[in-house]
This record gives sequence, structure tokens and C-alpha cells, in this order.
Amino acid sequence: METCYCVDLQWPADELLMKYQYISDFFIALAYFSIPLELIYFVKKSAVFPYRWVLVQFGAFIVLCGATHLINLWTFSIHTRTVAIVMTTSKVLTALVSCATALMLVHIIPDLLSVKTRELFLRNKAEELDREMGIIRTQEETGRHVRMLTHEIRSTLDRHTILKTTLVELGRTLGLEECALWMPARTGLELQLSHTLHHQSPVGFTVPIQLPVINQVFCSNRAIKISPNSPVARLRPLAGKYMPGEVVAVRVPLLHLTNFQINDWPELSTKRYALMVLMLPSNSARQWHVHELELVEVVADQVAVALSHAAILEESMRARDLLMEQNVALDHARREAETAIRARNDFLAVMNHEMRTPMHAIIALSSLLQETQLTPDQRLMVETVLKSSNLLATLINDVLDLSRLEDGSLELDLGTFNLHAVFREVVNLIKPIASVKKLSVSLCLAPDIPLYAVGDEKRLMQTVLNVAGNAVKFSKEGSISITASIAKSESLRQGSEFYQVLSDDQFSLRVQVKDGGSGLSPKDIPKIFTKFAQSHSLESRNSGGTGLGLAICKRFVNLMEGQIWIESDGPGKGCTAIFVVKLGVADHSNEPNHRFLPLTQANHGLAIFPGLKVLVTDDNGVSRMATRGLLVHLGCDVTVVSSGDECLRVISQEYKVLFMDVCIPGMDGYEVMARLQERFPMRHERPLLVALTGNTDRLTRENCLRIGMDGVILKPVSLEKMRSALSQLLEHGTLNETI
Ligand code: ADP
Repeated sequence: METCYCVDLQWPADELLMKYQYISDFFIALAYFSIPLELIYFVKKSAVFPYRWVLVQFGAFIVLCGATHLINLWTFSIHTRTVAIVMTTSKVLTALVSCATALMLVHIIPDLLSVKTRELFLRNKAEELDREMGIIRTQEETGRHVRMLTHEIRSTLDRHTILKTTLVELGRTLGLEECALWMPARTGLELQLSHTLHHQSPVGFTVPIQLPVINQVFCSNRAIKISPNSPVARLRPLAGKYMPGEVVAVRVPLLHLTNFQINDWPELSTKRYALMVLMLPSNSARQWHVHELELVEVVADQVAVALSHAAILEESMRARDLLMEQNVALDHARREAETAIRARNDFLAVMNHEMRTPMHAIIALSSLLQETQLTPDQRLMVETVLKSSNLLATLINDVLDLSRLEDGSLELDLGTFNLHAVFREVVNLIKPIASVKKLSVSLCLAPDIPLYAVGDEKRLMQTVLNVAGNAVKFSKEGSISITASIAKSESLRQGSEFYQVLSDDQFSLRVQVKDGGSGLSPKDIPKIFTKFAQSHSLESRNSGGTGLGLAICKRFVNLMEGQIWIESDGPGKGCTAIFVVKLGVADHSNEPNHRFLPLTQANHGLAIFPGLKVLVTDDNGVSRMATRGLLVHLGCDVTVVSSGDECLRVISQEYKVLFMDVCIPGMDGYEVMARLQERFPMRHERPLLVALTGNTDRLTRENCLRIGMDGVILKPVSLEKMRSALSQLLEHGTLNETI
């Protein structure tokens, strides 16, 4: 760099050369001086450059070189000693600084080199980052497409729309010429073309599932490039100069279809796939990019998810339809069952009514026969007829009660009644048989048992009578004790779930009937409350029972919010039947005016009614004859008619009682009654009006009382029943219950 040509002042100067040297030195000096300015600018601007002082040293070196050249300008002509000294000094300084700089450079070059390496490394890194940024951008782009596609695909839950949308959206996003979806056929042996971009519902295109190209795609979860000539890609029309575009295929897993069988898709036992084929435009040089293939793969998965959702929805819709069908069928079955129950009840009611008419004749006539002169054999026969008829009448009642209990139509008939009298009545009823069997009967009513209670007296009595009757029936000797007490909550059935919640105006009645009879084996006990149940003992089989009594008692007790159970130590060791029912505490103002009068032989056994004018209206000849027979036997003056019209013609104030069968053809009993009310507006002017009916339902009784009748008598009627009814009618002017 340093080229200094000093001219010896002694030498003859070549004018031109001198001139050029002179000018050159001037410009060299100028150039040298400009460099430090640039260096100063560089050092000022670059805050990070590590070798500032080297630059300063280098600057000094340059300045010195420049100075040497500048001073040189004065040495071309004759110059002074001062110039020589300055020149020499400047050269010495230049030599020193240049050597120092050279040495310094040797020292810092390795450093500078490492800076260079770092710079290279950084450049590489920057390039790598650029590449990554590119990938991220591509992925973002792919993600955006996938989101867009997914949104479109998932915006419906209908399979066909999902598939159609997928093809259309893929076709648009990737600029495809054709896109097709092949579904596994029902047989599972071939693929069927189900959707394409350009053909609406293509039919008839099938390819065997075993093709190597299909196997290859099904074995990978990636989108795979396949030959444009493979059978699954041959969908485009062959043009003249044809250069098919690149084709890729990807599998679409048919998820969940193993669990959800879809009607028009095959039943899939193993994992199956559909095949999606995507074709780039022909006659173009376009190729599949990696990110496009990724997009295709992601979309295939999304389609699979959307299809599985659609499958679940289809399945749940199918299940809902099925449920609705089942509901309709169930509703139909329920209606049929209700119709059947109604039909059964109607049948039972009719049978009940119809059977009561002949029963009435049998019982009425045999009770009359009983009153006549009979040989002992004849008496026995008549008694047997009467007993059997009574049994039959009870059975008819039981069957009807049971069917009403079963369909829930039987309700309690609540009223205030004498509780003590119920027990005394039961004892009176069982005593005759007990005394024949030489059984002693004891009744123990706890002192805290109220005299009056609110409840269904008839059902309570029926229950006590049944349990006590069983005790008599299944005992040959010993004693029967009937105990009634108020149940304290702790004395309720031990160890059972049974618990009664009582309000202030209620109490719990506990009745216990203990006998020393045939007893029951533990295995029989659970069964005896079911219909037609009988224990295996010979005694109970010979007892002539029906096995209905306890089943009915259980239902009555349940209606009274109580419980009934039987305890026995085993066959031959007797039984204890216990039941607990809920009764209302009677308010004293509610006590009945007519004390319950047990209609027993004891009260009215001898009563006869000479000359009592009675009119009987009954369309049934036998029944008419039987009723007439009973009344004549009781001393009445009886007139019988067979129709409502006749009744209205005949009736007058002279008649004291009118017995009227309410169900008669033509003008029925109710209408006749209404006419009579009109004819005799004052109650005391008209005869006592009594319905004689075979209808046991509550409605009949209510209707009769509502239209102003004075009592209702239920067929069949025995002599005793008729005697009691007439006594009560004449005594009170009314019958206070159906008898
Ligand atoms: P029925 O007495 O009309 O047969 P129940 O329903 O009243 O019908 O009784 C069912 C069965 O329970 C009887 O047949 C009998 O085997 C058994 N049973 C009921 N009470 C007693 C008792 N006190 N002692 C022995 N067995 C009884």
C-alpha cells in the first residue's frame, strides 16, 4: 500500500514524470484522508463492532500514509531541511504504525474469522427459520381449509349431504377435475361408486374389493398416489389427446358402524373403509403437493367422524321410531286390556244379577219349606239345600268383590259405626257352629277401644268374620279367642317394614284371633293370602272353602291402610291370625241415630205381620212367587204384579209396603218410583218403597235412595231376612243399609 517514490533533489527531473507523480501523490493523499472519515462514520454507526481501537489504529496508519504522500508534494522541487525532517518523521511514524497494525491484525484475524463463522451459522439459521415459517404458513393454510371443509361437512348430519358436500368442497379447494367415493357393497366383496363430483347418484359402477390398488390404499392411513388408469380412477371420458392428471386415493374409515347397523349399509363385522379418489385436471402439468395430500388425509378423517355422528343420529332416530311404535302398540294393548276388564266386570255384574234371581227363589222357597211339617230326613235335606245356597250366594259376593278389588273399583263405604257391636255380632254369628263343634269362643275388647269409630263397618265385619270363621272351621276342639286392642306403634308387626302413620283423628285397631286348630306349615303361610289358596292339610281341603276369604280380607285390610298376617307354630299347633287397620275417631255428634241393630233371629224371630198389605212388582215369575211365598208366610196380604204399568194401576194408599224389582222391562223401577212420588207427594200418604234387586253395585243403592226409596233389599232373600227387613221398615220407616 505504501509506495513512496522520493526524488533525489540532485537528479535531473523529468518534467512529465514528475508532474504525473505529483498529481498521483495528491490524489493518493486525498484518497487516504477520505478513508478515516468513512471509518469514523462506520464506528459511530456500529455500536456492536468489537474492534473499535483497531479501527482507530488503522485510521491513524492510513492518515499517516496520506500525510506521507501529501508531504511528498513538497519534495519534487528543491525543498528545505524542515520538509525533509517532517517527511522523515512522518515515514518513521507510518512504518511504526503500519507494523503495529500488521501485528495486531495477525492477532485479531482468528477472532474476525470466528465472527465470520457465526455469521454463516446465523445465516443458515435464518434460512431454516424461513423454511419453518413457510411450513407453518402452509399448515395454517391447510388448517384453514380443513376448518372450512369440516364446517361445511359437519353442518349437516345427513350421510348423503355429508358425502356430497365433502366432494364438492374438496373439488373446489383443490381444483380437482373429478372426485369420487366408493362404498363397500352389501356383500362386502366389492366397492360401489356411491358419490362423484359430476354425476348425481351414479349407479352400476362396482370394482372388486380385492384389487391390489385398493388393498394398498386400505393398508395405509396416508393419501396415496395411484395410477390414473386404475379401475377406481377410470371415471373421466377419454378425449383424443389425453394426458390424465395425477390421482390420489385415501381410505375413509367407517367408524361405529359395527355397533350401529344402518339399514341400507351392510352389516359390518370388521373395520371397513370407503375409498375416496381425487383427480387433478388432465392435460395439465399440476402435481400433488405435500400439503394438499395432508389436507386430503385430514378431510378423510373428518368425513369419518361426521359419518359416525350421522350413523349415531340415524340409529337414535330409528330407536325413537321403534319406541313410538312400541308405545302405540302398548297403548293399544292397554286399551284392549281396559276393554277386557270392562267386559269382565259387565259380565260379572250381569251374571251376579242373573244368578241372584234363581238363588232368591231357592233360598226363599227352601226357607219356607223349612217352616213346614217335615220328616227329619226332609228337614236335613232342606237345611242342606239352604246351607249350600247360602254358601253359593256368599261365593257370588266374594267373586264380585274380588274382581272389583282387583281393578280398583271397590271403595270403602265410610261411616260412623258401633265398633263393639261389630265384634259381638261376629261372635253371635260363629257361636252356633262353634257350640256344635264344642269350641269355646272368648271375646276380649281392650278397655281403650272406643265404642264408635269411623270406617267401613261392613268390610271390617267381613274381615273379622272370615278370620274368626276360619278359626272355627279349622279347629276340632279347644278354644278360640278374639282380642281387639289399640295398636301402639311398637306393638305393630315386629321385624317388618310395616308402619302406620296416623293423624290426630285416627287410631290403629289390632285384631287377633287365636285358635288351637290344625295349624299351618311354614311353607303354606306365604301362600294363603293368594286367591284360591289352600293349605295341604286334609282338613282344609275338606272344609269346603274356596280359598278366597283371606285373599279378599288382605285387600280389604290394605284398603284400610293396614296389614294382615298369620302365625303358626306348625301343623296341629294352632294358628294366630292378626290384622291391623286404620280407623277414624268418631266425633260424638257423628254418632248414628239408629244404633246398629243386629238383625238376628233373636230380635225378630217371632215377628209376623198379619194383614199388612204389600204389593210386589217383579217381572220374573219364579222370583215373584218366592217373594210372595215369604210375605204370605209372614202373615202379609200380598198382591203381585209383573210390570211397572200394572203396579201404577194397582197401587193405592192402602198398601203399606211396595217391593219393587228395579230392573224390569218396559217402565223400569226408577220411573215407577218417580211417578209414585208425583202421585203421593206427602211421604206419609204413600206406601214404603223398597227396591228388591240383584244388583250389588253401590250405584244402584245410591240411585234408589236418591229418588226417595226407603230401603234396598238384595236378592236372594231368606225368610229371616224378609222378617228382619219388614220389622226394621215398620219400626224406623226406613232400612238403614242394604240387607
Ligand atoms: P277358605 O277358608 O275359604 O278355604 P281362606 O282364604 O279363608 O279360604 O283360607 C285359605 C286357607 O288358609 C285355608 O284353606 C286354610 O288352608 C288356611 N287357613 C286359614 N285360616 C286357618 C286357620 N285358622 N287354621 C288353619 N288353616 C287356616
